Amino acid sequence: MTGPKPKPERSPEPPEPMFANVALIGLGLIGSSISHAMRRKGLAGTITGSARTKATLETAMALRLVARGCVNAADAVKGADLIILSVPVGACGALTAEIAPNLKKGAIVTDVGSVKAAVVRDMAPHIPKGVHFVPGHPIAGTEQSGPEAGFAELFDGRWTILTPTPDTDAGAVSKLKAFWEALGSKVEVMSPEHHDMVLAVTSHLPHLIAYNIVNTAEHLERVTDSEVIKFSAGGFRDFTRIAASDPTMWRDVFLNNKEAVLEMLGRFSEDLTELQRAIRFGDGEKLFRLFTDARAIRRGIVQAGQDTAAPDFGRAHQPEAQDAPKAPQSSGKKEHVAK
Ligand code: NAP
Repeated sequence: MTGPKPKPERSPEPPEPMFANVALIGLGLIGSSISHAMRRKGLAGTITGSARTKATLETAMALRLVARGCVNAADAVKGADLIILSVPVGACGALTAEIAPNLKKGAIVTDVGSVKAAVVRDMAPHIPKGVHFVPGHPIAGTEQSGPEAGFAELFDGRWTILTPTPDTDAGAVSKLKAFWEALGSKVEVMSPEHHDMVLAVTSHLPHLIAYNIVNTAEHLERVTDSEVIKFSAGGFRDFTRIAASDPTMWRDVFLNNKEAVLEMLGRFSEDLTELQRAIRFGDGEKLFRLFTDARAIRRGIVQAGQDTAAPDFGRAHQPEAQDAPKAPQSSGKKEHVAK
């Protein structure tokens, strides 16, 4: 039996991009990851980019992170509906002043800086009337930097915090929230001050401790550098990963989140003194109780899907080089961590 010929199936029209023109100012780890994720999801019609140096701009263009590269940030934002500043926190204010005259009415300006109150203080005064400013911070990163370090999955399952002020347009906040969700992130909204307090303890203090412990090990006289490296699997190497983070970015974080970091550092020092006393007086019961409480936090992080449950962060364990066949090459898979 022959029926009517089935109509050839038409492939569905690609969905409209969320933003027709996106300007990415700063094309390092975060800027390039946003580009990869936007292109994976078709969220931007055209992506224009700008960086501080010509070398970064050329690399970004070679990697097709941007369709058009501009030496001046002010040129890159012309006609853009969404402008994302992915630069060190200390550069946000001056850059906003530079791009302000070319911002389109109705455009959304956002950033990804790891500190929020200082960024609002530095950027908000330059935002022209009719342009929406919605500060943001993706809690995702690695210790690497530059345009080659980015990857599309960086934000998958991670949190992004938006910190609008009470007079920020609610529609612009919803649109940016939908954008980050489309990039793979979960989104929470809070005040800039609360963000800075939370991040001081979950990110800024751990980086300070890591930088300090790595320097302490380096300054030791009775333990050699080669011993520190050789026996690093005892815990030290996990600090070295964090301490390998970009010095410019972290200098700016500490200069711009001074109050909250000093508050957390004070509390940390008090808790450290308590541990010191417990060790001095042989108070095993106290040490056991404090360590048990801390262990529960790790379980909570794994249960919340913010890290792997695999032992040793899922590192592949290989036999020692001298008694093993040649170790296979690394898979090249990047370590994806919350920052
Ligand atoms: P990155 O890899 O070092 O990239 C920084 C980018 O900013 C580079 O493209 C750099 O250009 C550009 N830049 C620096 N100073 C500039 C200036 N004055 N004007 C214009 N462009 C400038 O840094 P990142 O890791 O992407 O960090 C960017 C922002 O994201 C920071 O505010 C940081 O706090 C935040 N953040 C970072 C992480 C993380 O884990 N790394 C996580 C969340 C949020 P050149 O390459 O040409 O110098």
